[in-house]
Amino acid sequence: MDRIVVVGAGQAGASCVAKLRAEGFAGAITLIGEEAAPPYQRPPLSKAYLLGEMALERLYLRPESYYADNAIDLRLDTRVAAIDRAGKTVTAGGQTLLYDALVLATGSVPRRLPASVGGDLRGVHVVRTLRDVDAMEPGMQPGRRALIVGGGYIGLEAAAVARKRGMEVTLIEMADRILSRVACPETSDWFRALHRGHGVEIREGVGLTCLVGVDGRVTGAIFSDATEHPFDMVIVGIGIAPATALAEAAGLDIENGVKVDAQGRTSDPAIWAAGDCASFPYKGGRIRLESVPNAIDQAEAVARNILGAGEEYVAQPWFWSDQYDVKLQIAGLNAGYDHVVVRDGGAARSHWYYRGDTLLAVDAMNDPRGYMIGKRLIEAGRSPAPEVVGDAGQDLKPLLK
Ligand code: FAD
Repeated sequence: MDRIVVVGAGQAGASCVAKLRAEGFAGAITLIGEEAAPPYQRPPLSKAYLLGEMALERLYLRPESYYADNAIDLRLDTRVAAIDRAGKTVTAGGQTLLYDALVLATGSVPRRLPASVGGDLRGVHVVRTLRDVDAMEPGMQPGRRALIVGGGYIGLEAAAVARKRGMEVTLIEMADRILSRVACPETSDWFRALHRGHGVEIREGVGLTCLVGVDGRVTGAIFSDATEHPFDMVIVGIGIAPATALAEAAGLDIENGVKVDAQGRTSDPAIWAAGDCASFPYKGGRIRLESVPNAIDQAEAVARNILGAGEEYVAQPWFWSDQYDVKLQIAGLNAGYDHVVVRDGGAARSHWYYRGDTLLAVDAMNDPRGYMIGKRLIEAGRSPAPEVVGDAGQDLKPLLK
């Protein structure tokens, strides 16, 4: 193994190349990314960075000098256009590069509103890249009116930032409740109340019919209830799709993302995938995770496996979101839950998802202790009795013994 090429200089790509060097790989490493910035963290894009409370340099995952210092050939502003599997090459920036192992860490692409409903008007933004956020930031002025389309975590975080910046904020969610795809009704209720308490107008069960504009710039929106409202900017948070185009064109198996085995290998044994773009085996099924912890852990597992470790990647899902002064921490995956136990400790609150007697996941709002204990229990495959969890007066720590 002499040459490893990694496509996508995001969280997974950067983690993979760093792990390869840390594990002692001495061959050539090329990390290719189509964005202009060196690898950076995305979570602050809808939180501290958008709020103006985090300097650009702090977004970067490593100092720029790290790549040269570690003989990593970092090529920015460069899109990988094609993979030739037979010849084991990729085409990027007009050059052809040979690989012995190729890693796809292409992330995901945000869903956009089509031009037919005004998605191409100026003042309409998505939140995926540094460029997206730098473009929207000047429009976030006190007193201006923002429409947020989509009540998932990205939309809610953007709403919180816009409100903190003094904007008038309306959020519409087509489903009957915010966070319906990812959380229980109790969590939706809690976040709805939080946002309304901060002055965000939340409209659920309301879709967007179209945006309206003047001279190519958005000036308002018509909702599915036929009402028309003026807006100065629109932030669209309606989900993402795994970036599979390159893999698909190369004929790799796709199943809700680039399909990999437990070690992170695609249907071509010389090509691996990790992060948002990859779907992998999990508890008898197959999942794809859109989170930083997964991008790092999976990419590091792939790095070790390329070097022959032969280890299975066992995801331990966790996630977080910051809105106003609330830190939400999530442990586990709630898919398949049949009931939720609320632990109401006043300022610290957590929602525990069960299927039968089995604990699946915990949403903890300003409750780091509940989160930490829940996470350790889930990882150990242990399920506390609901009546213990539901009694905020009972200490949970003894459950870990
Ligand atoms: P990415 O970080 O998206 O990197 C993929 C890179 O590949 C991109 O730079 C892309 O341009 C590049 N690329 C794609 N195709 C090509 C090509 N053909 N040639 C060259 N380059 C290519 N996760 C959390 O856990 N907690 C959070 O609070 C959280 N908040 C978030 C907030 C925002 C605003 C966003 C956008 C994401 C957030 N996430 C959060 C999700 C997290 O950032 C992603 O799961 C993570 O970045 C995935 O890493 P990745 O390397 O798979 O993809």
